[in-house]
Amino acid sequence: MPADYHIHGLAHEGPPHTVERLLPYVEAARAAGLTEMGFADHDRYLDGLDFNVFPELERVTGVPIRAGLEVDFRPDKDLGRELAGRPWDYLIGSVHAIGAWEFDRPGQESGFAAWDIDEIYATYFYLVARAAASGLFQIIGHLDLIKIYGHRPRKPVVELAEEALQAIARSGAAMEVNTAGLFKPVGEIYPSRELLERAFSLNIPVTIGSDAHAPAEVGRERARGRELVRQVGYTSLATFAGRQMTTVPLA
Ligand code: FE
Repeated sequence: MPADYHIHGLAHEGPPHTVERLLPYVEAARAAGLTEMGFADHDRYLDGLDFNVFPELERVTGVPIRAGLEVDFRPDKDLGRELAGRPWDYLIGSVHAIGAWEFDRPGQESGFAAWDIDEIYATYFYLVARAAASGLFQIIGHLDLIKIYGHRPRKPVVELAEEALQAIARSGAAMEVNTAGLFKPVGEIYPSRELLERAFSLNIPVTIGSDAHAPAEVGRERARGRELVRQVGYTSLATFAGRQMTTVPLA
C-alpha cells in the first residue's frame, strides 16, 4: 500500500512544527500499512514549517516522509515567491474560495443560495484550471470540492469540469482522489466517478489522499478510494520525491 500525501500534521491549529507533534501521524500511517507518507499542511502555516522535522521523523520511524504543502490557490496571490527556496517533494494546489467566499468553511454555506449553481461550478472549475495552468503544482487537490454540501449543478459536471481537466492534463500534474468527502455532507469521494473516468481518459495520473487533520484520520477509507481508482481502469498511482513523479503499481 503506497503513499498518503494529504496529511495536515498541524491540523487547523498551526505551528509549532515539531517531531513530537507529527510522530503520532507517522505511527498511525504505519499501523494503517502505508509505506510512504507526506505532510501537506496549509500554506498559511508556511512560515512555521521546520524542514528538519521531516528527515528526523524518517530517521526515528523508518517511514519515508515527504515534504509537501497544500496551497490555497487564489489568482491574485504571489505564489512563486512564497514557495521558492524550500525542499518540496510536491505541492498540492487546491481551490477553497471564489473571491472572498471561502465556500468550504463552516458557516459559509449560505453562499450557495446567493448565486446560480451552474455559475458557481463554472467559476470554481475556472479557478482550478488557473491553478493547473500556473504549473506550480504536482498534485491538484480534491477536484470537485465545490460539491461539499451536496449542491449539484444542472449541467453535466463533466462538461463544467472539462477545461479544468484539460488544464491538469496539459500541466502534467497528478490529480488527487481524496477520501475526506465521504465524511462531509456530500458523503462522496472527491472527485466523483464520472470525473475520474474523464481524468483516466486524459491520462491524468492519480494519488490517493485522506486529508487527515488528526492521526486517526490517516489513510481513512483508503480501500474505497483504491477500489474506485481500480474500477475506473487505473493500474498505477503517482508518487513524488523532489517534485519528480514516479508511478508505482496499484497494489
Ligand atoms: Fe483542502
